Amino acid sequence: MIKVDNLQKVYQTNGKSIVALENIDLEITQGEIFGIIGYSGAGKSTLIRCFNMLETPTSGNIIIDNQDITRLSTTQLREKRKEIGMIFQHFNLLSARTVRGNIAYPLEIAGMKKADINKRVDELIHLVGLTNQADSYPAQLSGGQKQRVGIARAIANNPKVLLCDEATSALDPKTTLSILELLKDINRRLGLTMVLITHEMEVIKNICDRVAVIDQGQIAELGTVLQLFSQP
Ligand code: ADP
Ligand code: ADP
Repeated sequence: MIKVDNLQKVYQTNGKSIVALENIDLEITQGEIFGIIGYSGAGKSTLIRCFNMLETPTSGNIIIDNQDITRLSTTQLREKRKEIGMIFQHFNLLSARTVRGNIAYPLEIAGMKKADINKRVDELIHLVGLTNQADSYPAQLSGGQKQRVGIARAIANNPKVLLCDEATSALDPKTTLSILELLKDINRRLGLTMVLITHEMEVIKNICDRVAVIDQGQIAELGTVLQLFSQP
């Protein structure tokens, strides 16, 4: 589903080069929950942002569902991004819109008809368990409820891939577990491929099939959670 080939990212700031990623090779299979863990500054955000071209790689290729996203035109990329949903640590909700309005937003952008939007939003609100909060504004929601909105919005257009950028890092341990359960449920029901970055080992152990440890911009280790993190 996702193939990363010799990816490199160098930032240029004030005449200085910062190598954020180098020699990254990865294959993530359809339906897999793939984790990327590492310390702050290791390159996790840069890597996951390359998966939807929020960052442009300096060199290398990223093939998602048979299409090299590093070689798409602006128009092609806009289409491709519908296949790639993303959720964020700080949720990034629209504060002036209700839960319903936030979830409807990507469907409006996609040009869906009003009646179809209402139907789809109802389904999504039910799926993420926010039936009683449908008309609330983000400021009225708990952190976990906000992330449920983020998840519903991210999967509204039926993406093939869901990118999770520190999706539980702003949440307490109990809420973290409930969000991970929701993500697992969505993975099972929809067969969505998930890539998540985190600095929290517990998240990786709870949800991931395989994991890459990233250190100073390179993959230090790669394997199943059992292979990497079980006690000898
Ligand atoms: P992580 O997500 O693991 O904390 P990042 O991908 O944010 O790591 O950062 C990797 C490296 O790239 C760090 O050295 C960071 O300072 C640098 N970096 C990240 N974003 C930028 C940017 N926009 N400009 C310059 N350097 C950046
Ligand atoms: P994270 O929570 O993933 O570690 P940061 O808080 O380090 O992210 O970075 C937040 C934002 O700042 C990101 O968009 C990142 O690209 C940017 N950034 C990170 N490091 C630098 C840097 N050294 N120079 C410029 N921008 C940076």
